[in-house]
Amino acid sequence: MLTLLEIARLLRRARITDGQAEVPPELRGWSFDKPPVKPPAYPGVALSDFAYGYCPTGRNLYLKYVLGERPQPTRPLLEGQALHAALFKSVEDFRRFVYAGVPMSGPGEDLPKDVRPKAEALYRYVAARLVGEYHYVLASGLARSRDAAVFYAAPICTQVAVDAAPLGLSHAVVDGVALGAVVEFKFGPAQNVDAALAGYAMALEAEYGAPIDYGIHVQVWVDGEVEYRAQAYHLGEGPRVKFLEARDEAVDIVASGRDPGVAPQCPRACPFYHACRS
Ligand code: SF4
Repeated sequence: MLTLLEIARLLRRARITDGQAEVPPELRGWSFDKPPVKPPAYPGVALSDFAYGYCPTGRNLYLKYVLGERPQPTRPLLEGQALHAALFKSVEDFRRFVYAGVPMSGPGEDLPKDVRPKAEALYRYVAARLVGEYHYVLASGLARSRDAAVFYAAPICTQVAVDAAPLGLSHAVVDGVALGAVVEFKFGPAQNVDAALAGYAMALEAEYGAPIDYGIHVQVWVDGEVEYRAQAYHLGEGPRVKFLEARDEAVDIVASGRDPGVAPQCPRACPFYHACRS
């Protein structure tokens, strides 16, 4: 849903407001063979299980990886998954429409009934936005080919998976990559987004050996209409150290089998609420 010009503006603003401090070389993902990027162990934890810090003590890690407890998807989680799927499908359908003339068909049949109206609203919004931008850049001469127009309208490569084993993690799937920045879309409450974006950036750096200096968080609200706010972060020392501290704590819980205890306050959307609070 972010166009090329919009992403460029977000990154320019972050460069001006956050400065352009160098990222310390020892905090690049490709420095995975020595601390602090080298993990204390390699238990293969999922980045999304700890980086956003939704469980204040990390007990979700103990339950999932040590006890083998299965998470129970809650309504907010299911809604978030369905909206992510609608967003990604609209981007894919847009490309199919441009290159093969296939009409954009909607978010698909395989959706929970109560989420369908929101998924359809999001799909329609993204489709209109992409097609409108596509025609604008062609008509204005900014793009001289279909391919360039697609790049202007939909520059985000979605659902990029990388092997984050060098960081002690499992595969990490980032929502998107564009202009050398990682992009995450959130449809509900989200915290520690700068640290999570740094984690995805470091996983990509470890895999490909190319620097990722910025991350973009897009918060989306869908309630009949679609609204969103996007913010770019410079992924310098602060977010990287924050991510590595969270990673080390997560790895320690799983590798040692330590129960960190129930948090004083738990979000109702936690998929382990049944295990800790029932
Ligand atoms: S219910 Fe609370 S303590 Fe248990 S995993 Fe969820 S947030 Fe953590």
